[in-house]
Amino acid sequence: MTVYLVGAGPGDPSLLTLRGAEVLSRADVVIYDRLSVTSLLDLAPADAERISVGKQPGGPRTSQSDINALLVARGRAGQQVVRLKGGDPFVFARGGEEAAALAAAGVAFEIVPGITSAVAVPAYAGIPVTMRYSSTSFTVVTGHEDPAKGEGSVNWEAVAALGGTVVVLMGAARCRPICDRLIAAGMAPDTPAAAVQWGTRPNQRTLRATVATLADTDPQPPATIVVGEVAASDLAWYENRPLFGRRIVVTRAQPQASALAAELRRRGAEAIELPTIAFEPPEDLDRLVEAAAEVGRYDWVVFTSPTGVNRFFKHLRDARSLGEARVAAIGPATAAALAEHNVVADLVPEQYVAEALLEALADEVGSDWPGRVLIPRAETARDVLPEGLIAAGWDVDVVPAYRTVAPVPDPTVALLLAEAEVITFTSSSTVTNFVDTYGADAVPEVVASIGPITSSTALDRGLDVTIEATDHTVSGLISALEDFFTR
Ligand code: SAH
Repeated sequence: MTVYLVGAGPGDPSLLTLRGAEVLSRADVVIYDRLSVTSLLDLAPADAERISVGKQPGGPRTSQSDINALLVARGRAGQQVVRLKGGDPFVFARGGEEAAALAAAGVAFEIVPGITSAVAVPAYAGIPVTMRYSSTSFTVVTGHEDPAKGEGSVNWEAVAALGGTVVVLMGAARCRPICDRLIAAGMAPDTPAAAVQWGTRPNQRTLRATVATLADTDPQPPATIVVGEVAASDLAWYENRPLFGRRIVVTRAQPQASALAAELRRRGAEAIELPTIAFEPPEDLDRLVEAAAEVGRYDWVVFTSPTGVNRFFKHLRDARSLGEARVAAIGPATAAALAEHNVVADLVPEQYVAEALLEALADEVGSDWPGRVLIPRAETARDVLPEGLIAAGWDVDVVPAYRTVAPVPDPTVALLLAEAEVITFTSSSTVTNFVDTYGADAVPEVVASIGPITSSTALDRGLDVTIEATDHTVSGLISALEDFFTR
């Protein structure tokens, strides 16, 4: 089997390459260090082994020779090994030494390059490392060696003399001696300089100064230092995004990864995903199996959640079993789940609540005998829809397709909650399960709800709802958050 040395990129998890994601998805073991992005570990199979060889600040570090030995041993054991490294594995990351150890041991390896912080971190701060005419080169230098002690091998005179952009990695702690040395080597003291801390992450911070004053800004690691004319450019975009740096808890239903969290991250927020519901099969699964077998006998099948769709289709033999039955979805997410099964919803109401669905069905059917309807849905749910349909003369079968249960509380979650500004709720059951699991006191200051039903559950449980989406979808909720924070 193969050992893959994979570049994880500088921090933003979406900067992993497609090749990196692919090898991670097949990994038996992932060996990672401190600056690798922990959310990328989720891309590995759930049962893959995860080994941290990172140095915790002040803590022990696994020695490089131990890491090499570990890679060799796991490779020889026939495992699919992913060695995940921050940025690019061959840029100041000792990937060369690891590859040499594997080559010497005769273990097959591949290199999956990554996006290096040397280029991407300045980019996220709005600093291009080259500019036509003014910066015709960029030199990436390690700041690991202390120039004041006269040790090391960096030729700072040559670096200063080149006249282009100087990018220093691992230089935060030695910022002052490095800048002094560049000036001593002839660089103008008023040359622009910037230090970008935690680049490409929601806690990114850009400190701007000159080469003479940068050390006064006291940059903290991890930081990428940029010295040169380009460091004066401030094409800020990442730090300007409406939700930049906001810590937002996303209450989500396991096991699906949250689309909301991904969207929030794209807008610069730090999304903390918190499972509040888990799905289990209903008490009485036979009814669902039977309904799926006989679905062709209904006039309409009405779905009120993506989970309802997925659970129902698990028991459907063939899409043709639907026969003449028409299909309604309560909203776009449910319609999208249907589309995954190649079924186009015949009806999606304009507002994504049971009342609107009821009205839309009535409009669709007219005044004849409306017919038979099947509603595969959560075991506990509101009765508005079935009762309304029965009142309108429909022949209604409500079939439990799944049960929502509270997950086991996670002890590390309390800490994350304490630091968060906002919590989002996308359904009444996320509210109920969250409060039952973590308590109403654990709720961050700002509560954002997807719509009136969810809000009213939150009010019932003693929460103040600060933000309510007008469009009751994930994107509606995101717009409401953006409005709130730009106001
Ligand atoms: N292989 C990595 C570099 C490893 S050296 C790469 O190609 O990016 C570690 C140094 O990279 C840090 O000391 C810092 O200078 C820089 N670095 C890594 N991640 C960073 C981040 N998110 N923001 C700023 N600098 C970062």
